Amino acid sequence: MIDKPILFNMTDAELEQFIVSIGQPKFRAKQVAEWLSRGAPNFSVMKNLPENLRNDLDNLARTMPCTIIKKLESTDGQTTKFLLELNDGNQIETVLMRTSYGNSVCVSSQAGCAMGCKFCASTLLGLKRNLTQNEMFSQVLTAQWELRGDKDNKNIKPNGDPNNNDVSHVVIMGTGEPLQNTQNTIGFMEKLHSDLGIGWRKITVSTCGIVTGIRELTDWGHPINLAISLHAPTDELRSKLMPINNKYKISEVLEAAFDFVSKNNRQLMIEYILLAGTNDSVENAQELSNLLQNKNCMVNLIPWNSVTERDFKSPSGNSVHRFQDILIKNGIHTRIRRERGQDIGSACGQLRLNQKS
Ligand code: SF4
Repeated sequence: MIDKPILFNMTDAELEQFIVSIGQPKFRAKQVAEWLSRGAPNFSVMKNLPENLRNDLDNLARTMPCTIIKKLESTDGQTTKFLLELNDGNQIETVLMRTSYGNSVCVSSQAGCAMGCKFCASTLLGLKRNLTQNEMFSQVLTAQWELRGDKDNKNIKPNGDPNNNDVSHVVIMGTGEPLQNTQNTIGFMEKLHSDLGIGWRKITVSTCGIVTGIRELTDWGHPINLAISLHAPTDELRSKLMPINNKYKISEVLEAAFDFVSKNNRQLMIEYILLAGTNDSVENAQELSNLLQNKNCMVNLIPWNSVTERDFKSPSGNSVHRFQDILIKNGIHTRIRRERGQDIGSACGQLRLNQKS
């Protein structure tokens, strides 16, 4: 646990006061703020500050709300996973994915999770607490720094060229249920839009189906992408896999979600993890087709990525394609999404869990 003030969390006036309080001229505060806005992980990178000031700051404060304690690179060279520590010692995970359409960051919204989904490692240690807006934003800046280091980004458009070194997409799909932390999640998305220029359509919120939270997003009224973690086509099966289904039934969740996408002119994303022998049968595919037929949605089929702490099996390639074929025959847009970076424990919560054990 690191108990030092975090400069990123200070207002401009507070930062100036802090800098003056350690005997430095006011203009140093602006220089520090510029580094913080780029996600500077420590003070030693702030090369336009005198060395003695960098050392003093290092003794007195931290730059960002998140500190990297482990960084793993996948063998495909496209995925980087960070284990980050917060000021109170809690740990969270963030994943940077370099894709053909740009650089995407998967952000955690809580330390741990209370939702208890049976296939998920993130929930095994329970919920520790909600993350603040700055703790979520700092995850994106950590990825941005990874991409660009100390290079200035003033003249580069954030969302244009997929080869450029900026974060272009953000998915709130890491550890935690963002709609149990709705106000901070909304504040975070507003900051992504205003401070980094990330378009609403390049931001995705993924929920296990908190209907009240989906309604809050609808009232908020911005055209982000909404993804529902469905993972089962019937209430009976879904309640076994996801305890939240005892509170909000599939029909209520889908009603709220389709209302959101129709008001914001988006397509609903349905996430469906395929668990061999549990939810990947021909009958399950037909039931899912019946549920989604003629609806404005895209189904992402995600073959189960083995987590040692969870007792499910990965589906065979044949059964994945059979499931997809049935959906497609029923006119449902469907694609298979392979988990990236499996060699670095990309399943949500694995890295944090392994660190604790
Ligand atoms: S899948 Fe998401 S909502 Fe479910 S327990 Fe894991 S982190 Fe929580």
